[in-house]
Amino acid sequence: MRKPLIAGNWKCHTTLREAAALVEQVKRSCQLPTVEAAVFPPFPALSSAGQWLDGSTIRLGAQDVFWEPQGAFTGEVSPRMLVDVGCRFVIIGHSERRTLFGETDETVRRKLLAVLREPLTPIVCIGETLAERDANRTFDVITRQLTDGLQGLAGEQAGQVIVAYEPLWAIGTGRNATPEQAQEAHAFVRQRLANAWGKETAQAIRILYGGSVNGTNAESLLAQPDVDGALVGGASLKAESFSAIVKAAAEAKTVRR
Ligand code: PEP
Repeated sequence: MRKPLIAGNWKCHTTLREAAALVEQVKRSCQLPTVEAAVFPPFPALSSAGQWLDGSTIRLGAQDVFWEPQGAFTGEVSPRMLVDVGCRFVIIGHSERRTLFGETDETVRRKLLAVLREPLTPIVCIGETLAERDANRTFDVITRQLTDGLQGLAGEQAGQVIVAYEPLWAIGTGRNATPEQAQEAHAFVRQRLANAWGKETAQAIRILYGGSVNGTNAESLLAQPDVDGALVGGASLKAESFSAIVKAAAEAKTVRR
C-alpha cells in the first residue's frame, strides 16, 4: 500500500515567528498514523523547523535545491545542506520555478540525480498549461516532462521518486481538476512509469495531485485509486485547512480499503 502524503508548500510566506506558530499548530492537528504529513517552509526557517519537528511525525521538506554539493554558486543550497537541517523531502521543478525562474526538464534532471545521492526524497512536479490542455496536449507534455526529467534513472532510483501532477491552470486559481481528470492523468503517469521501470516500481511510486486542494474537495480527489496524496499551496498556510486535508486523506483511503 502507498501511504498517502500531504505536503504543504508554504512558498514565499512566513517569517520565522509565523513559521514557529504554524509548525506548532500543524504538530497539534496533523499527526495521524495512516497519513504522512510534511511542511515545506522557506529556506530561512528550515533549520529551526527541523528542531521544532524533532520527535513528531510531521516531516520537513524544502521547496527547491541546487545540483552541486558545494562551491562558488551564490544563493544556492545543496542537497546535503538540506539533509543536515532535517529535511526528508525536496520539491523539484515546481511550475513557479519553471515559469518564473527558467527551470527546464534538464535542470529538473540534474537536481533529481543530485538529490538521489542523499537520503532525501524528491517530489518532481509536472503538469500542463491551460492552453496545452485545451489543445489536447496534456499527455504529450506529461510524457516529455517524465521522459526528459527522469532520464537516466535506474529502476531503484526511480522507485524513490514522488511525482506531483499539478496542472498549471489549477494552481492558486481556486479551480481544481475534477477527480476524474486527476485520476486520468495519474493513471497515465503510472503507465508511463511502468513502461520505463516496470509495473512493480510504478505501483510503489506515490503520485500526488496539486492544484487548489482544500478541505472541501480533498476527499473526492484523494478517493481516486491513483491519487496518493496532495501537494498543497494556499490551504497549507492555515493549520485548520491543512489538517482538514490530512483528515480527508485518512478518510478517503480508509473507505477505499
Ligand atoms: C502549488 O503551488 O503546488 C499548489 C498546488 O498551490 P495551490 O494549492 O495554492 O493551488
